[in-house]
Amino acid sequence: MPVWNLGSVNADLVFQVPHLPAPGETLAATDFKRGLGGKGANMSVAVARAGSSVHHIGAVGEDGLWMKERLSGYGVSVDHVAELAGPSGQAVIELDAEGENRIIILSGANARIDVFGLDEILSEAQPGDWAIFQNETNGLLDFARAVKARGLPLAHAAAPFDAEAVAPLLEHLDLLVMNEVEAAQLEAATGMTPAALPVADVVITLGAKGALWVGAGGEQRFEAPKVTPVDTTGAGDTFTGYLVAALEQGLDMADAITLAQKAASVMVTRLGTADVIPLRDEL
Ligand code: ATP
Repeated sequence: MPVWNLGSVNADLVFQVPHLPAPGETLAATDFKRGLGGKGANMSVAVARAGSSVHHIGAVGEDGLWMKERLSGYGVSVDHVAELAGPSGQAVIELDAEGENRIIILSGANARIDVFGLDEILSEAQPGDWAIFQNETNGLLDFARAVKARGLPLAHAAAPFDAEAVAPLLEHLDLLVMNEVEAAQLEAATGMTPAALPVADVVITLGAKGALWVGAGGEQRFEAPKVTPVDTTGAGDTFTGYLVAALEQGLDMADAITLAQKAASVMVTRLGTADVIPLRDEL
C-alpha cells in the first residue's frame, strides 16, 4: 500500500568557505556541492528505501527538473510533483572549516502547491494507505482534511516548528513526530503535555538518547543504537520516513520505532542527506 507524502523539494546548494563572509565581503568558495534536500523529499526517499511505495505530492520550479528525476530514480513516484514557473525551493548553505554554517532558505515552488488538486490526487488512495506531511509547504490544513475525508491514517512531522501551523492540524492527526525541542515548544504553546494532545500516538526523538513513544498504553522509551556520529543532518527525516513505512507495512509501533532508529542511527554515520539514506537491506 502506498504512502502519500505532501512535502517540500529543495536544492541544497552547499558552498564550502574558509570563513563565513562578513557583510560586504566577497569570498571565494573552496568547494561546491548541489544535492537533493527538503524534509519532504528526504522522507519520500526514506519511505522508498524502507521498501514501501510512495507518491510525492509537491512542486518544483523551472530549475528543478533534475530533482524530480533524482526522486524518480530513487523509486519515488513523482506523478504529482508539479512543474511551476519561478524558482524551486532552495537552501543556500555556507559551511566553514569548523563546521559552522549559515543558511538561507527560499520556499519557492513549495509554497505554491495547488491545494485544490489535493482531493483529486487522493481519490487514487486505497484503504490501508498512509499519508504524511511536514511544515515546509503550503496547504497543510487542506491536506489534513482531504486525507481524513478519505479515512487514511495521517502522520505529521512538526518541523520546522511553528505553533500556529501545527495547532489546527492536531485534531486530524493519528501520529505526531517531533524532536525534543519541538515537543517542548508545542507544550509551551498549547499548555498540553504529549499525553494530553488529541493525537493517538506521539513519538518524540531524543537524538543519541533514542526515542519516546506516548500512546494509549502510556509511555515507552527506546534506546538508540550506539554509533559514532559524523553528520546528523536528515536523521529525523530518515526516522519519520522509516517509521511510517514500517507502520504501513503492518509492523506494530514498538517494532516500527526500533526499525526507524536502526535506519536513523546508520544515517548519522554518513555525510549527506537524501542521497545517503540507508536501504533496509543495509540495516
Ligand atoms: P535532524 O534535525 O538532525 O535531522 P532531529 O532533531 O529531527 O534530527 P533527532 O532526535 O536528533 O532528530 O534524531 C532522530 C533519531 O535519529 C533519533 O531518535 C535516533 O534514533 C537517531 N539518532 C540521532 N542522533 C543519533 C546518535 N548520535 N546516535 C544514534 N542515533 C542517533
